[in-house]
Amino acid sequence: MLKIVLLGAPGSGKGTQGAELATRYSVPQIATGDLLREAVAEDSELGRAAKAAMDAGELVSDETVIGMIRDRLTSPDAANGFILDGFPRSLAQAEELDRLLTELDRPLQRVIHLQVDNEEIVQRLTDRGRGDDTEETIRNRLAVFAAQTEPLVAYYEARGLLTPVNGSGTVEEIQERIVRAIEGA
Ligand code: AMP
Repeated sequence: MLKIVLLGAPGSGKGTQGAELATRYSVPQIATGDLLREAVAEDSELGRAAKAAMDAGELVSDETVIGMIRDRLTSPDAANGFILDGFPRSLAQAEELDRLLTELDRPLQRVIHLQVDNEEIVQRLTDRGRGDDTEETIRNRLAVFAAQTEPLVAYYEARGLLTPVNGSGTVEEIQERIVRAIEGA
């Protein structure tokens, strides 16, 4: 049973590390960014509502992502654990997650804070070249992270759940650090 949150700026490696952990521990990686991109690709009502915010590098409404997470966490494959990647991204989302996990009697085990220098982040995102990885959107996503998501570091630290992990190095090196953080906890 693995129940963790991967917290980190865009480009910090949450997606890559989350996928590796999902295989290693046989639990689903739940990434709100992926779920939102699927909704946009399907041109669903939710996708159409989310697209403008995503293109601008702003957060999609808390209500929208919380609804998605509620559906996803209550589906059978998440019964044995989950890796949350890119959620929560605001205090309101973190508080709602606490409520939901209390309700499900599945409290969070650990929050891994992937730390990477801003300069390296910009370089990585520029190389990645996803649709919303234009220079202006990248800059805005980093500003949104600092303003709305970074307060979660203190939030989880106060609850004794936070473990900082150095997010620079090879995928294998970083994975090793995360595994140590999880298993040593
Ligand atoms: P990501 O794939 O995690 O980089 O997310 C891509 C975009 O989806 C973000 O820039 C946001 O616009 C949106 N998004 C993803 N997760 C969330 C979330 N938890 N809350 C609000 N917006 C989100």
